[in-house]
Amino acid sequence: MSGKILVPADLQEICILFEDSSCEHRGYLDLKTGEIIQIFDDIMDTEEKQELDDKVDEGSGERYIAIPNAESYEGYQDMEDFIETVKDVKHKEKLYNSISRKGAFRRFKDVLNSYPKERERWFKFKDEKVMERVNEWLEEEGIEIIPQKFIEIREVSFREISESTEIEESWKGFGARGCLKCDSEDGFKERYFVISRCPDGEEEEHWLDETMKKRYGVKHYGIIAGIFNDSRGPINSAVCGKCGSHDIFFDL
Ligand SMILES: [Zn+2]
Repeated sequence: MSGKILVPADLQEICILFEDSSCEHRGYLDLKTGEIIQIFDDIMDTEEKQELDDKVDEGSGERYIAIPNAESYEGYQDMEDFIETVKDVKHKEKLYNSISRKGAFRRFKDVLNSYPKERERWFKFKDEKVMERVNEWLEEEGIEIIPQKFIEIREVSFREISESTEIEESWKGFGARGCLKCDSEDGFKERYFVISRCPDGEEEEHWLDETMKKRYGVKHYGIIAGIFNDSRGPINSAVCGKCGSHDIFFDL
């Protein structure tokens, strides 16, 4: 790809943090896992806060990147821009008045409360503005967010798989049989996952590859479609206990 840092994260969550301009609240994006770390200066106890601060400091600029907060002038600009789009003259005037004095944000919201449709439109308008800024920021930082939510991945235990009544019996004996590197036939460390649906097309397969690597450290895995009675798929992965290779041969 383009040399961008691919991060499997929740864009919506980044937007929420981005929009939050309170200074007691800081957010960091973990570029490795896509996890979002939030530090609440007021609510958290000192120890917990210190621990997170240390973690973030240590990987600052490499693994962790601070999610910027919206500037208050941007928020003000958004209100002005929105008012420009209001068609009803009377309503428009009321909104203009509301932001011309101190406490503009609160007054603006108060006025909108009596116009439910416009209020709805404002939220959408605002979300789009925030999304634009988040995308600009990501672009500057060279980060590309891989949408996280389109396939859910859950790690499960072997027990959960073997006791499941939803999985075809024949699959339950499926597992690691041989290491393709050192020929070892046992001592594999196996892990199991269930994905909410099998990937469809190259892009999704690529996403799954990246996500399995980044989130779980799994470099090779196998999916067997058609085990469940819907589009879910189980994933097997294994590491050779002898040589540490991820290149494992699976069979029934
Ligand atoms: Zn091996």
